[in-house]
Amino acid sequence: MNRIKIVSFDVDGTLVSPDFVNAVWLEGIPHEYASENGIDFRQAYSIVCAAYNEIGENRIEWYDLRYWLRRFNLKITIDELFNRYRHRISIYEDVEYVLNALKDAGYDMIISSNAAREFIFFQIKPLLHYFSHVFSATSDFKEVKKSREFYMRVCVILGVHPREVVHIGDHPVFDYQNPIKAGMNALLLRRHGADADNDVDHIADANANGDCVRGEIKNLNEVLRILNVP
Ligand SMILES: [Mg+2]
Repeated sequence: MNRIKIVSFDVDGTLVSPDFVNAVWLEGIPHEYASENGIDFRQAYSIVCAAYNEIGENRIEWYDLRYWLRRFNLKITIDELFNRYRHRISIYEDVEYVLNALKDAGYDMIISSNAAREFIFFQIKPLLHYFSHVFSATSDFKEVKKSREFYMRVCVILGVHPREVVHIGDHPVFDYQNPIKAGMNALLLRRHGADADNDVDHIADANANGDCVRGEIKNLNEVLRILNVP
């Protein structure tokens, strides 16, 4: 039996709200497109969104800000774009306390996200010191989603058995089903209450050995209870 040693976190919707990411893609890019092309924001917004949809989330370009700046011929740099919306970054209020408690309890913590690396690092800059590794499915593995194989590769790189890891995130497939298929533990975070989903046990719980942790949680504080962190 393997005790959990590593706690893995998704980023968007788990550590930070989607506000910043939405601001960059749905405000920043159309705004730049509008001013470069002398059209109004609403026109630019529909052109930009049509191009996003044409590529679609199953292609790696979807996640690649450089690709979009190039494609739309925008002069703004990623740094300028990110800094313009930095006030929209919102780290959920339970995050820092929980990371601190897990660190004090001796857990190793990692990031497992499908966001591009620059989005991850910019948004969680004040929290980066808590994490020993940051894995981006798109930037590091050129995978568009966090698949079973993604989680298996993470475990191989870390040199741990999947049972020694619990992943926490807000997507029922990419943060819950797939890590479980890889043999990991997983907790599905539903910050805004549950949509009915019969695939997930509604009360997350751990057995006395701390292995086989599965279920649904409403906030990160529940992780401490489940892992018996004081
Ligand atoms: Mg997420």
